[in-house]
Amino acid sequence: MFIGAHMTINPLSSVPSRTLKIGGNTFQIFSQSPRMWRMNFNEKEVEKFREEMSKTGIDPTKVMIHASYLVNLASPKEEIWEKSKNRLKWELEVAHRMGLKYVNVHPGSRVGSSEDEAMERVARAISEVLKDSPQDVKLLLEIVSPKGGNIGYNFFQLKKMADMSGCEVEFTYDTCHGFDGGYDICSKDGMERLLEEIDKTVGMNKIAMCHLNDSKFPINVHKDRHERIGKGYIGREGFSNFFSYKVVHSIPMVLETPGGDEEHAEDIAVVKEIWSSLGISK
Ligand SMILES: [Zn+2]
Ligand SMILES: [Zn+2]
Repeated sequence: MFIGAHMTINPLSSVPSRTLKIGGNTFQIFSQSPRMWRMNFNEKEVEKFREEMSKTGIDPTKVMIHASYLVNLASPKEEIWEKSKNRLKWELEVAHRMGLKYVNVHPGSRVGSSEDEAMERVARAISEVLKDSPQDVKLLLEIVSPKGGNIGYNFFQLKKMADMSGCEVEFTYDTCHGFDGGYDICSKDGMERLLEEIDKTVGMNKIAMCHLNDSKFPINVHKDRHERIGKGYIGREGFSNFFSYKVVHSIPMVLETPGGDEEHAEDIAVVKEIWSSLGISK
């Protein structure tokens, strides 16, 4: 089983050893500040990072970069759309230079356009970006919460965008975003509905990653607020139901829960307790 957290990168080279310290064996990072368009690349630090990766033995094919929050591939505004494509291209290039397999992105927000227009825009952006990006890095579209004009809040939409792009993309399931959009992983019925929808659309083998987050709000309220594992409306019992399905065991789990390394270590311990209680061997 693979588990880890979204890690801060000061400095980047500390991430692999800190991951082991909190009980993880994978992680997610921002390549730099996710709220600034500025793009930096520190050659020396990346070299050090690659050395640390091999020292710790963390498998880089289970690690992802989360693209900047500024990226909006659905934007009807030309300038934002161009900047978004450039930034995403750059994130893919950085992942390649770091030796990491995945870049995860939110499809985008429609800002006044229709959902169909937004999906076409996202698909076009993906095909333009991936046309001249490194082939060894996979783009992941993340399921989002159905709030604020977000597109990609179910697997029908994610599949449609992927198909229209004509590109080989894969997907990230976020347990908080899904819960916020009505996927009830706490119940047998809810899990079966989710797995059936995935089977009918993108296929389970294309769910490359999972963001493991509890939710500060009840199901289907469209607020998208992550909570620490076991302390929200999904709760230990909800995650216990989720992990009782073997199909999710091969997917690396990455926490995006509030707090830093200390809190993440506690949350990872909670997840491992849940696994133990289900008889899942780590
Ligand atoms: Zn995300
Ligand atoms: Zn997420």
